[in-house]
Amino acid sequence: MGNALFSPPPPVNEPVYMYSPGSPEKQAVKATLKELQDQQADIPLVIGSQKIIDRPTEDLTSPQNHSRVLAKFRQATADDINQAISAATKVGPEWAALPWNERAAVFLKTADLIATKYRPIMNATTLLGQGKTIFQAEIDAACELIDFLRYNVAYAHQIYSQQPYSSHGVWNRSEARGLEGFVFAVGPFNFTAISGNLAASPALMGTPVIWKPASTALLSSYMFYQIMEEAGLPPGVINLVTGDPKVIGATCLASEHLSGIHFTGSTGTFNYLWQEVGKNIGRYNCYPRVVGETGGKDFIFAHPSADPEQLVTAMVRGSFEFQGQKCSAASRAYIPASLWNEVKKDLVDRTNSLPMGDPEDFTNFMGAVIDERAFAKIKGYIDHAKSAKNANVIAGGECDDSKGYFIRPTVIETTDPHYQSMVEEIFGPVLTIFVYQDADLEKTVELCDTSTPYALTGAVFARGRDEIHTLTHALSGAAGNFYINDKPTGAVVGQQPFGGGRKSGTNDKAGSIYNLLRWVSHRTLKENFLPIVDHN
Ligand code: NAD
Repeated sequence: MGNALFSPPPPVNEPVYMYSPGSPEKQAVKATLKELQDQQADIPLVIGSQKIIDRPTEDLTSPQNHSRVLAKFRQATADDINQAISAATKVGPEWAALPWNERAAVFLKTADLIATKYRPIMNATTLLGQGKTIFQAEIDAACELIDFLRYNVAYAHQIYSQQPYSSHGVWNRSEARGLEGFVFAVGPFNFTAISGNLAASPALMGTPVIWKPASTALLSSYMFYQIMEEAGLPPGVINLVTGDPKVIGATCLASEHLSGIHFTGSTGTFNYLWQEVGKNIGRYNCYPRVVGETGGKDFIFAHPSADPEQLVTAMVRGSFEFQGQKCSAASRAYIPASLWNEVKKDLVDRTNSLPMGDPEDFTNFMGAVIDERAFAKIKGYIDHAKSAKNANVIAGGECDDSKGYFIRPTVIETTDPHYQSMVEEIFGPVLTIFVYQDADLEKTVELCDTSTPYALTGAVFARGRDEIHTLTHALSGAAGNFYINDKPTGAVVGQQPFGGGRKSGTNDKAGSIYNLLRWVSHRTLKENFLPIVDHN
């Protein structure tokens, strides 16, 4: 079977279904939600070929209804994690030795299964477990995940195709081998696709994985795991572990076999992981690749020439879709005084009119925030602004956790560009506005660039080419994903590779060839057809 150079199907972005009334996709997902109504998922530890259930359990509840238990999952022990590492390192050499197209086929088939028969359940589990509206679930758990899987195969093919030049009498070759050992993949709660890709991309490149999704994302993560199994993923290639992050983290980080960390989550957690790698560096068999996409304080900067209507739309969608819990969500905005009156009225009206409630009702624009801890943190910022002298809540501000963790989309206006909600990551539906004097444009651009440690996403609104160029240049380090006259969210795999700099991560751009290059170690081969026999 080696007598061909296979090319993968050229990827195209998965079309987004609209779930309009009466559409077949809406009927299918509604039927799935109904089926799941009285079910509780039982999520095992998946270690090698074993599904382990005889461990203490924890409940996974719904953000929009915290008395509804959606699943129970297991608390892994340190021993379990060591077993998972053994399973991974045992299967690793066999998996890496498979022709690349055989590994790729597993993930291409997974993508096709999600695009078809498992689309409703991937969306329904993301809606129920992570509190996404059907549209937000569709662009994440269906489209983005499918795109990651398909585009990565095309990028892997490009990597393997890159071969060196050979001079006369010599054949130079290059082999992109998977890493020896295992990759520790640690996922965030907010994107089913991101977390799945953290595990799938190193595995595609030939490295086995210990995958620890966020516990709040386990309903959809386990579904994804089962689909990969159905698509032919061999046991041990991706081991799914759940439970206390500290136990799982400390055990993986202490293993001599750790060859990489693929992380998405908060800056604090990533700092911890990196520090532990530093402390343990003498133990490892190799230098682990440390890849992390972390926090953000994403901005919208309006030039006085900005179109007010486009600006307000970007603020509303960019800040409040998925309750502001996208890493790319806008959470601070700089608006010139000359535009503020017009912008303010429209922004307040539109924000206050956003329908919020259980996402099983498809007319809602927003649902609840992920859990009690997030609710308390976000509410803390809102309460502070309600009593602060230099801040004012001008829209929203109501918080209600009686049934689910609901927080109305909130706009804070501040006179202090360093006010806490203007510079700290909140990760909820809160947008803070600083109104600047038009004459202070340059100074305010500098504030935008320097007042937070992050550099994930940002958007500028302006009309003239000179203005656009000046803002783009002045803010060149302020965001890894930079938008001009568009909201700062909604990056599409293959079109806007995603990731930030500064304290927002290592900027290895998920869903791109750059990310996959972190999971291979090249071997250069030189074969001499005309060996020299004379030493002079
Ligand atoms: P988090 O840091 O609380 O958790 C992320 C993951 O780390 C979870 O699986 C968690 O259980 C695990 N974890 C926590 N402590 C650990 C430890 N000691 N050892 C090992 N694992 C540990 O983040 P979150 O609340 O799930 O996600 C929100 C954060 O993620 C925000 O800061 C957001 O900006 C960021 N995020 C960034 C991007 C990006 O692309 N830059 C994308 C999505 C989310």
